[in-house]
Amino acid sequence: MSVALRMSTLYAPTLKEEPAEADLASHRVLLRAGMIRKAAAGVYSFLPLGWRSLHKIEQIVREEMDAIGSQEMLMPAMQPSELWQESGRWELYGPELMRFKDRHGRDFCLGPTHEELVTSLVRNEVRSYRELPLSLYQIQVKFRDEVRPRFGLLRGREFIMKDAYSFHATQESLQEHYDAMSRAYARICERLGLKFRPVEAESGQIGGKVTTEFMALADSGEAALVYCDCGYAANVEAAGTVVPRHPSVTEPRPSRKVHTPDIRTIAELAAFLGIREHDTVKTMAGRTEAGRLVFFLVPGDRELNPIKAGWAVPGVTLLDEEDFAKFGIPKGSLGPVAPPEGTVVVADRSLQSDVAWGVGANENDYHIVDAQPGRDFEVAQWADLIVAEPGDGCPECGAVLKGARGIEVSQVFQLGTRYSVSMGANFSDEDGVDKPFLMGCYGVGVSRSLAAVIEQNYDDAGVSWPATVAPLEVAVLPLMADGEVLEVGERIWRELAEAGIETVLDDRDERAGVKFADADLIGWPFQVVVGKRGLAEGVIEVKDRATGERVTVTLAEAVDHVAAAVRTAKAALAPLTPHP
Ligand code: ATP
Ligand code: MG
Repeated sequence: MSVALRMSTLYAPTLKEEPAEADLASHRVLLRAGMIRKAAAGVYSFLPLGWRSLHKIEQIVREEMDAIGSQEMLMPAMQPSELWQESGRWELYGPELMRFKDRHGRDFCLGPTHEELVTSLVRNEVRSYRELPLSLYQIQVKFRDEVRPRFGLLRGREFIMKDAYSFHATQESLQEHYDAMSRAYARICERLGLKFRPVEAESGQIGGKVTTEFMALADSGEAALVYCDCGYAANVEAAGTVVPRHPSVTEPRPSRKVHTPDIRTIAELAAFLGIREHDTVKTMAGRTEAGRLVFFLVPGDRELNPIKAGWAVPGVTLLDEEDFAKFGIPKGSLGPVAPPEGTVVVADRSLQSDVAWGVGANENDYHIVDAQPGRDFEVAQWADLIVAEPGDGCPECGAVLKGARGIEVSQVFQLGTRYSVSMGANFSDEDGVDKPFLMGCYGVGVSRSLAAVIEQNYDDAGVSWPATVAPLEVAVLPLMADGEVLEVGERIWRELAEAGIETVLDDRDERAGVKFADADLIGWPFQVVVGKRGLAEGVIEVKDRATGERVTVTLAEAVDHVAAAVRTAKAALAPLTPHP
């Protein structure tokens, strides 16, 4: 199918001014290039060029899903609350779930994800292990009332996702499909030209334990990652870490209670005592579901990772202001020495051999220095509790972790029986026994990927699209709007389209400077410049947007040259990851 568009009729309203509301390049450029427009915070229209690029990403995702035997379908965006009651997420999901009532007063939500719906679809119809495994996917609009919708398409409240769900009789079968999905996700990133890294992750709202995120590497990314030459890589939310300790005091000393008037923070305490923050120990308080106090102790210069706190003490929540009052404990002076009756003390592993802890005295305006575990207090549990940082030790090999930032473009999860048990979705196994399905779920942020591609491919002039994602592959720019220049331009444009190259003709009556600026802004991978002076010598110029290189080509060779350049650029994005 040939694609030949004219700039004179194309709806691509470009902006000369930088849009004030946009902080990130992708947001700025998508607005400036006339690819998207905002309807409300985190809610966007895709104009024709934005839609074309989005559609290309969808198509790549579709091909990769079909290749691993996942079947495309479409579920409703509007979902009845009953299903979410069954899974328990009507309560758990919180204000991010967009809820509404129909005219009969029945509760509904707009799907942020579709585990409930797909489980309800399959549970009454797939009865036997013989019908498994089964993998279904859709490409659909999703709704999440994000606390902070921002960065344009990167964090919207309405956005496009490819979500897939799989059902299995055995863990081996689930693992096999999870691996196939992971490879398909790597291939998708490769075909989009993304520099990316798969990382170990946290499963958040969805549930389950085994999960990998695919991170497009970008300094503007919201996610912090750590990685190691040994192959270990993780989101810092989930990263294991070996925290280096260099305590100033290495021999036990008698502990002392010190008056520390109005000292509330670690920084104030360190300054007051004239020691490093590294030599203090920070105590954070939580409560178990049964209402028992838990003290988490980490080095004063490091942060407690609340997710790891939950791994160490399942169901724990960190205290809020009200809780402190209720338990009657001084927020700025907590510590493991003589805590309230029944308190569980959990400390970070890195502190295990430290013999002189500077801690709160559980009494306003007092701290204890040189407290020693085993002598002055007991630690009930040693655990990895800390947010990993570059420079820490790798949890797998001990080498030094490096850091990077990324945009989470996709994630794969093994859900196990999280939804099949709560929603009563069973099949009958080989031995005739009813068992809950083992499930996986797999999401690609299609609209977020579009923005991620730009975050990796822009300059001051605009976007420089990978050939696979560009709204069209070539722009022909006749530098005059009439006469031979326009005629030759039109001929090259038509012949390129006939050769299967997506081509736009800038037939507008605009100055050359405007045409060049718009071409660089929108980011067509190749520009064919037809000018009067060149034509006198029988040549045109071809500019490669990515490298900025210009070559002069004879009229006779023009179409073949450009078509070959486009094919080479696309071939360079052929995936490296083998097919599953
Ligand atoms: P995040 O941690 O960034 O909020 P998530 O982990 O909650 O995302 P998933 O539930 O894993 O998101 O959804 C699958 C994919 O959908 C994500 O990998 C991401 O690419 C995309 N996505 C999630 N939330 C948004 C959003 N608000 N706007 C655009 N894309 C999103
Ligand atoms: Mg995710």
